[in-house]
Amino acid sequence: MNPDRIRAVGAGGAGAASSPRPNRFRLMPVSPAPLLWGLTALAAVAVAAGVAILPATPAAAVDHAVILEYHHVGTDTPPSTSVTPETFEAHLGYLAEHDYHVWPLPRLLKRLEAGRSLPERTVALTFDDAYASVYTEAYPRLAERGWPFTVFVSTDYIDKGYAGFMEWDQLRELADNGAAIGNHSRSHPHLARPRRGDSRSAWLERVRAEIRQAQDRLAAETEDPVRIFAYPFGEFSAPVREMVADLGFYGVGQQSGAVGPTSDLTAAPRFPLSGTTDMVAFATKVRSRALPAEVLAPGDGVLEPDADKPALRLRIPAGPYRLEALACYASGQGRIEVEWRDRDAGKVMVRPQKALAPGRTKYNCTAPSSETNGVFYWYSFLWMKPNPDGSWYAD
Ligand SMILES: [Zn+2]
Repeated sequence: MNPDRIRAVGAGGAGAASSPRPNRFRLMPVSPAPLLWGLTALAAVAVAAGVAILPATPAAAVDHAVILEYHHVGTDTPPSTSVTPETFEAHLGYLAEHDYHVWPLPRLLKRLEAGRSLPERTVALTFDDAYASVYTEAYPRLAERGWPFTVFVSTDYIDKGYAGFMEWDQLRELADNGAAIGNHSRSHPHLARPRRGDSRSAWLERVRAEIRQAQDRLAAETEDPVRIFAYPFGEFSAPVREMVADLGFYGVGQQSGAVGPTSDLTAAPRFPLSGTTDMVAFATKVRSRALPAEVLAPGDGVLEPDADKPALRLRIPAGPYRLEALACYASGQGRIEVEWRDRDAGKVMVRPQKALAPGRTKYNCTAPSSETNGVFYWYSFLWMKPNPDGSWYAD
């Protein structure tokens, strides 16, 4: 993702915070219950028993977390998929200084799935593609802090010994030292696009083979690969997500946002990080929360070639955020139209002013917290649009 776009979202969201704040559609009281299951249950037991308890960390249980996605950590790799070692160090420094809990991704996802609370300020660090710089630059810095991380591997790249990627020995060393090794397919294809002339069953069989064969290779080379699948290019569609779930995997995408109790764990959002040294943008991301938007339409983001200005219809329940300040952005277009169809029901339609170009476009929507300044609730939706002749864009 272009870091300028991320900055645009952060800046726009912050700008929206200064708009008037009529509170008229916070009609329903916001229940703290989903935020504090663990403590609430404990307190209920204590109240029933007539015992006063004071948890050691009363505000420390929340229902959300943030997953960060890196590719390269280096200075001579493409800026769009790289952070410099200095920027990476600054990110880690920020997390340490602000008392973030860095958790293994498998643990984080299991917690969320079980509906159990997490410590406040929990993040997981992930690296896609198993680039060599993860071993040389990221790993030493993470090992020094004793922080866990997950590497998503496209196994053909390692099997073929491609330059710029880790070797199996290095991946084994990471795995032996606390890293989780996850599945990024065998050959890194665009899974959401059937090939021309492919039957649906042949296409889905290819998707299944990509995931299963990669997992077999990971299991053969590293002791205990986790059952988490990172979609190549962050691209998924409804049938692909179903396949991932059928195979017993969690899925993670590259659409930005925090994860929360309503997140779809077959395509959980992650914040892709690259290029920018802007620590304000980084802080906005790690402090963000999941906007619990339910997609009413469409079923997924794979578009027809003539779909110019696709509308995204969401239902967003009332919550501790200011929906009247909901702002949405499209990659390359800046702010786009937000049209409330039924405010009381939280139904909103989001659409761009300009036709989408072929390729990937994200609609990012943010609503400022009504409780904490500078905290945004965030939702992102990914579109994939083919070329006008129906062929697919290069990557
Ligand atoms: Zn990748």
